Amino acid sequence: MSYDVDNVFARILRGEIPSERVYEDQEFVAFHDISPVAQTHILVIPRAQMLGSPAELSKDDVEWVGRMVLVAVSIAEEHGLNKSGYRLVMNSGSDAGQAVAHIHMHLVGGAELGPIA
Ligand code: AMP
Repeated sequence: MSYDVDNVFARILRGEIPSERVYEDQEFVAFHDISPVAQTHILVIPRAQMLGSPAELSKDDVEWVGRMVLVAVSIAEEHGLNKSGYRLVMNSGSDAGQAVAHIHMHLVGGAELGPIA
């Protein structure tokens, strides 16, 4: 899924459409998913990387992707999910149902989740 400069997350980053932000720093923004699949459903997105999906990642991306995972883990902790558990998901492409062409990570928790597949 190639990058689309007018994807909904790029528009959120530009402030063109609203989001319910739960975290932001120089590199990442996190906000509530508009159609949550569990009590907690948060999306973490990078500000600068114009990648459409995980399929576009390369070795150059290893460090910031690691930091994105740690941001998601820290948000999960802030939301009290450490004990009950949670799921981190990155969708890539059509079979995964990826809808937004801006690389992102889902943090889902607060309910017993079914098997991933
Ligand atoms: P994916 O299927 O991995 O591409 O996930 C995209 C996610 O973005 C879906 O879970 C949508 O519910 C969510 N989404 C789409 N538009 C918005 C929006 N304006 N604000 C927050 N979440 C959104």
